[in-house]
Amino acid sequence: MQRRATSATIEPKRDRAPRVGRDRREVKRFESLVGELSAAMARVPADAVDTEIESWLGKICQALDLDRSAIYERDAPDKPVRTTHTWRRPNMPPFPRNYVPEKLLRATTKLVMAGKQITFSHPGEIPVELADARRFVERWGPKASAVIPMWAGGRVIGAASFGKFRAARQWPPELLDHLGLAVRLFGSAIERKQSVTAMRAVRAELRLASRRNMMSELVASLSHEINQPLGAILSNLGGLARLLTQGNPQPAMALEAVNSAIEDTKRTAEIVRRIRFMFKRHDEHKTAVGLGALVAEVVKLIAGEAAVRRIAVQIEVSRSAQRVNGDPVQLQQCVLNLMMNAFDAITEATSDRREVTIKVAPEKTGWVGVSVCDSGAGIAPAVANRLFEPFVTTKNDGMGLGLLVTRSIVESHGGRIWATPNPDRGATFTFTLPVGERKRQSKSRRNE
Ligand code: ADP
Repeated sequence: MQRRATSATIEPKRDRAPRVGRDRREVKRFESLVGELSAAMARVPADAVDTEIESWLGKICQALDLDRSAIYERDAPDKPVRTTHTWRRPNMPPFPRNYVPEKLLRATTKLVMAGKQITFSHPGEIPVELADARRFVERWGPKASAVIPMWAGGRVIGAASFGKFRAARQWPPELLDHLGLAVRLFGSAIERKQSVTAMRAVRAELRLASRRNMMSELVASLSHEINQPLGAILSNLGGLARLLTQGNPQPAMALEAVNSAIEDTKRTAEIVRRIRFMFKRHDEHKTAVGLGALVAEVVKLIAGEAAVRRIAVQIEVSRSAQRVNGDPVQLQQCVLNLMMNAFDAITEATSDRREVTIKVAPEKTGWVGVSVCDSGAGIAPAVANRLFEPFVTTKNDGMGLGLLVTRSIVESHGGRIWATPNPDRGATFTFTLPVGERKRQSKSRRNE
């Protein structure tokens, strides 16, 4: 006689004797699979949780001879339930188009999200009060199903469903216990993934905030910086206008005013150009970059300048320096800025030791460092604490933007930059970048 279900949590039917041995074997096998699942979920990095879960839905269905499975997630109690992972045996019916469980299965979803497990061994077992589940099964056809709430951190964050379409099937309590454990393991992996995603969002928000702060600082100093040459241009042109109205008896003076105005205009245009460069989108052309080769290229680029200034440039690249993920043009700009500053510092020192050494070497685990060490005049105490602020310069023709641009690029690549005085003479500027993803690295190495 068939037992009619009376509550939402349906007790599986007691088995007939011949099934018992088979069920036990199935449960045993499944128990060891859940052990493997537990190890896999502990190992999997947050970014790979989703693909790993999908592959495990497949393994579970294969092991239990099921046909279709899905995971549903809800970000918060007031948020909708989404279908996030699915697996189905080839030739088995797909999930309904645009499947939103709350629309098709409102009452059932509510019950499951309140922590109730729903199982039926054949459609006749679905309780009468779950009319939406009955309609769903009638229309979409699973013959047996287990829907298990997904717990994590003491709350239900979603659910998992396992269905069989080809035939009815029993759900022995022990099997359901193990299935429940598997779903719990999925839950904690998903929770870990969600917290990593949330942390990343907070970090991105913080980065944005600090960028906004930097921008408002920059805009304040920028208007000051641009107003100066604009004022000078205005006064030169005013003088010129007066000279012209007087019939221009002093052409040399007029020429000087025009030349001054041209110089100031160029300077203003250069400030604008650099600022535009700094706020151009920085993350457009990222690729695996070998910093040793990149530094060598920059050194080649400025070999002429080094020769004119009689500066010896030395490169030391550690073989164990890994590649980074970045925009090569922007990173070249960083090295170039630091090199030009080193050259200026040496020129200013007028000493006979005229050397710049650039080192590329691994920093602490997962990081690569580039340091530019010069034998120059050293960092002027007046600017030592403000090196990376806009328009801070000790040079007559300096802009005070080079280090700011360099820092902005380094930070947009997830790195850091700092300066230290050398024990004997000169200064060393170092920036560090996180090494690129391993997968990308080995791939690009193969392509070399
Ligand atoms: P700029 O080169 O236009 O002055 P930067 O932002 O590149 O702008 O540099 C700001 C200031 O930092 C320089 O004017 C200089 O005083 C100091 N500085 C930068 N690099 C060095 C260096 N290698 N040695 C000593 N001082 C440096």
